Amino acid sequence: MKILIIGTGYVGATTAMVFAEIGWQVTGLDIDAGKIQRLRQGRLHFHEPGLEDLIAKHVKNSRLQFTTDKETAIKEHDVIFLCVGTPSLPDGSADLRYIGQAAKDIGRSMKGYKLIVTKSTVPVGTQEQIKKWIAAAQQDAIPFDVASNPEFLREGKAVEDALRPDRIVIGTDSQRATEQLQRLYSSFVCPWIITKPRTAELIKYASNSFLATKISYMNELAKLCDELEVNVKEISEGMGLDPRIGSSFLQAGLGYGGSCFPKDVSELVMTSRKHHVNLRILEGVIEVNRTQYTYLLDKVRLRLGGFAGKNITVLGLAFKPDTDDIREAPAIRIIDQLLLEQANVQLFDPIAALPGHASYRAVKVCSSAEEALRGSEAIILCTEWPEFGQLDWKKAKRLLGQPNFFDGRNMLDAKRMRGIGYYYQGIGSDH
Ligand code: NAD
Repeated sequence: MKILIIGTGYVGATTAMVFAEIGWQVTGLDIDAGKIQRLRQGRLHFHEPGLEDLIAKHVKNSRLQFTTDKETAIKEHDVIFLCVGTPSLPDGSADLRYIGQAAKDIGRSMKGYKLIVTKSTVPVGTQEQIKKWIAAAQQDAIPFDVASNPEFLREGKAVEDALRPDRIVIGTDSQRATEQLQRLYSSFVCPWIITKPRTAELIKYASNSFLATKISYMNELAKLCDELEVNVKEISEGMGLDPRIGSSFLQAGLGYGGSCFPKDVSELVMTSRKHHVNLRILEGVIEVNRTQYTYLLDKVRLRLGGFAGKNITVLGLAFKPDTDDIREAPAIRIIDQLLLEQANVQLFDPIAALPGHASYRAVKVCSSAEEALRGSEAIILCTEWPEFGQLDWKKAKRLLGQPNFFDGRNMLDAKRMRGIGYYYQGIGSDH
């Protein structure tokens, strides 16, 4: 079987690498010629630890190819994975225009049987819609099957997650599709869930929404911790040791961001509304997350007596460490608000870059943390990059205008920071 991956972003590039790594012949297709050009040279257009080396290895041994020629690619491949983006529309529901376009391209160009597998996160019922799009675009009625195979990888840990998944979920009504996918993934040792298409689609949304719920729950609890003078980090530790709860996603902070949680929780709420079911918990999760960053900003504003004309350092831009993804990153909202209130913003992130909008021209983008700290009257830590934990904060103090530290990720130790002379505030972690 020859595999075609449509969309070579975070998920598509990783999926292409995985299938090449386990021995299949793979082609990655994208409408973005710049991305394809880089990938052909074994270079990645985003930051993901370990991925570039593996892509380069398989480009070199010719197991992995990249193209922008959709017609030829669709004709020549048996199994097609859809890995295109499904961003949010303004109302919060998923925008299926890229999925629709890819499905129509497949319908138009296919000359023989194809299995089309959706890895993109798509609303419940999309598989039925994909079938209709493909069939409507076909000139002759050529048989094909569709399957849903949601992806659960985490950015920053994509290689590890994709090579050693904790489950494989397949949603299809076709026995032939199930057998083909079992063959494709035969070298993986993990639990399988083979189910109806709608179930597979909902498993993905239910999983991400649950993880987002854990985060918003801890973020609300952190505010109570501040009132009760209790450290939320100890609460997380005490809770996380219970295997029924688990320790992941229990860290209070500035709220969840990235390309998945915000859009997936919104889409699930939209789906539930369409079906006249009120997912009140998730409405609350979204509301807590929407305003979470303001909780820390209020503390900074109070300490400085306003932002106008103040030099403020933002450490970290990416929505989490080990990625350059800034989609829905809380740091962006913080920077927007600081600029609105006329602060002088000094930013450092080891990898991530600000969008090219004119509105960000006022931000001083620094090439080291030390440069960003010079003359600073308040530091806001937005991403827990390990190097911020390793920085010599005692020495760094000499660079500052005022030693005010606001820890949006509860990364540093409050007692230690206060011991070396900082005014330190976190999110429920000061006590
Ligand atoms: P992305 O934006 O990084 O990549 C999407 C790619 O698809 C882009 O390179 C774009 O140019 C390409 N594309 C769009 N339309 C195309 C077309 N018609 N033909 C060929 N290429 C086309 O997106 P991503 O982060 O990789 O996410 C892809 C999907 O996977 C989304 O549905 C997302 O929710 C889901 N997902 C993402 C992650 C993650 O961590 N990023 C994890 C699990 C699932």
